[in-house]
Amino acid sequence: MDILEVFKKFPKQEDCISYLEQVRWGGTPRCPYCHSDNSTSLSAEQRHHCNNCNTSYSVTVKTIFHQTHLPLQKWFLAVSLILNAKKGIAARQLARDLDVHRNTAWRISMKVREAMGQKEHRELLTGMVEMDETWIGARKPRHEFPGDKHPRGLGTSKTPVVGMVEREDGGQVYAKVAKKQDLNAKKTRALVRDRIDTGEAVLVTDENSIYLLMRDVLPHKMVNHKVWYVAGDAHTNTIESFWSLLKRGIVGQFHKVSLRHLPRYVDEFCYRYNHRRHADLFGLTIARGLGVA
Ligand SMILES: [Zn+2]
Repeated sequence: MDILEVFKKFPKQEDCISYLEQVRWGGTPRCPYCHSDNSTSLSAEQRHHCNNCNTSYSVTVKTIFHQTHLPLQKWFLAVSLILNAKKGIAARQLARDLDVHRNTAWRISMKVREAMGQKEHRELLTGMVEMDETWIGARKPRHEFPGDKHPRGLGTSKTPVVGMVEREDGGQVYAKVAKKQDLNAKKTRALVRDRIDTGEAVLVTDENSIYLLMRDVLPHKMVNHKVWYVAGDAHTNTIESFWSLLKRGIVGQFHKVSLRHLPRYVDEFCYRYNHRRHADLFGLTIARGLGVA
C-alpha cells in the first residue's frame, strides 16, 4: 500500500480505528486486560467498556500504537513509507514526509521496526543455504593502530552480523548481530543447528575457520575466494547481495547507526526481504504491530 492509498482508504481517525479493530478483533472487541469479550461500545473515540473488569479500553491498548498523541493516519503513512523504502528511510526524511518532529519520526520508526522484528516462530532454512558474516560500523582512525595497518575481522571495532539465506527463488533470510567472541566454530555450529534443517539442507560458506567441522552437522561446500570466485554452485552470491543491500541502507540512510539499534535495522532488512512477495505487507505489519500476527 502506498501513501496515496493510505490517504484514500483512511482519511479520518475513525477509519484507522475501524481498520485496527477489524484486524485485531475481527469485529468482536476483546478486553486487552482480562480478555473478556463482554463489553459495551462507548461512542466517545471508539472506546469500549469491559463489563467483566470494569475498565475502558481502545483498540490501541498494549500495541505499538498505545498512548500515541499522533493521528493514526500518520502511523499508517509511516508504515507505508518504511515498507516501500527498499534501502530504509532515515528519521530526518520520515519527519519531513510526515510533517512531524524528527524525534517523533524516530520513535515511530523504532516502533514500526519493533513490529518487523524476527520474534515469530520461523521455519528452518532448507535447500542450498548460504552462510556468511559481515562487519558493520566505523573503523577506528588509522593512527590508533600501530604500523598504519588496518586490522580486518576480529581486530576491528566493527560489529559482526551473521546471516544465512536460502538460495532458491523466493528463499528466506535469517541474520542477527553477533558478539565477536561468539564467532567461533562451536557457536556457529550451534547456530546452524538452531536455524537450518540439517537433515535436508546443504550449507555453502567461504573458508573462514568458524565454518570448519561443519561437515559433522550437514553437507557443506566451501568457496575458495582466492582461487575462483564461483565454482559451480559453491558460491555465496545470494547472502553477499543481501549484505550489500543492508550496508547501502545503513551507510546511505542512517549514517551512524547506533550499535544499540543495529539489531532492529537488521530485522527491518530481513523482514522486507522475507516478505517481499507478500500480497498485503501493510496489513501484515499492522497486524504484527497489534500483536496478532
Ligand atoms: Zn476486562
